[in-house]
Amino acid sequence: MNYVFAPHPLPSVPVAGTGLAFPVHRIYCVGRNYAEHTREMGFDPDKEPPFFFQKNPDNIVLDGRFPYPIASSDVHWEIELVVGLKSGGVGIRKEDALSHVYGYAVALDMTRRDLQGVAKKMGRPWEVGKAFEKSMPISALVPADKIGHPQKGAIWLDVNGERRQTGDLAQMIWSIPEQIEYLSGLFELKAGDLIMTGTPAGVGACKRGDRMKGHVDGVGDLDVTVV
Ligand code: MN
Repeated sequence: MNYVFAPHPLPSVPVAGTGLAFPVHRIYCVGRNYAEHTREMGFDPDKEPPFFFQKNPDNIVLDGRFPYPIASSDVHWEIELVVGLKSGGVGIRKEDALSHVYGYAVALDMTRRDLQGVAKKMGRPWEVGKAFEKSMPISALVPADKIGHPQKGAIWLDVNGERRQTGDLAQMIWSIPEQIEYLSGLFELKAGDLIMTGTPAGVGACKRGDRMKGHVDGVGDLDVTVV
């Protein structure tokens, strides 16, 4: 088959300590998955089932440089643990969910909060706020067969040397197995899917020149400059 133009490169994430790359299929993101962050966004963490939105696979950034996006003047950081799947399916039970996990990474769910705010108010989709170019700086993936499946441990983000976000993976409202179970009841999950597992409290607006350093215990670090 000849294409009418050259296909875009397949987005992928390097696997730490190997020469391998993890080819990205879809990117699912859970909303409001830490209680303190849910409250800072003006919602009650006890009152809603999980919900998901998506970013585009080609939104990932590997070189640690986040270009301040067009069409926004209120761009927020959200540090998150990312899960990468090596297999999938529908109707996955939470008891079996971790057997589908290839590994973990640290990423930023960069958000055009002003555009997301308008979308929320108007009852419109979130893509303009969430799924824009370069909106997902990500670290290398670390295989679960090296580090296991982190269920607790610190997650934090420093901006210009100051701690701005802090939390613990154990504070997730919906655990990773529960997220996989829920998502697989809505979509056919596949190898290559990434899941962003939510952000702890302390989101805030970045500006050009900011240095954002994120960390998840047992997984790794992410170092991103806003350019
Ligand atoms: Mn997020």
